[in-house]
Amino acid sequence: MESKTELTEQQWRERLTPEQYEILRNKGTERAFTGAYWDEHADGVYRCAGCGAELFRSDTKFESGSGWPSFYEPTSADGVVTETDMSYGMVRTEVTCARCGGHLGHVFEDGPEPTGLRYCINSCALDLERVS
Ligand code: FE
Repeated sequence: MESKTELTEQQWRERLTPEQYEILRNKGTERAFTGAYWDEHADGVYRCAGCGAELFRSDTKFESGSGWPSFYEPTSADGVVTETDMSYGMVRTEVTCARCGGHLGHVFEDGPEPTGLRYCINSCALDLERVS
């Protein structure tokens, strides 16, 4: 298993843009339909913007209509960690990067087959590595 990425808050601030920091390290959410990838259709691998770990592949991306990039499953079940998030008066399941602990988004049980899951992820938390 790959080693964990553990940086100080200062190191994260130096590595990330302010928007990336707000989402990955402060559990923020980008506004719907504003991110780089909600309407992205290129083939490739989506990596964590914090640490570069592979998280999702374009062949599991689908049109959710939510305004955030949505996937029905992660590349590897080990690549992401999920836990209950009770913030903002809602019960949701938060998704974080297993390697760096960065906040990615949430997962909902209203996705398409074959999993029925919808990983609703902030574009800002992702870097698309396109295949040409
Ligand atoms: Fe990461």
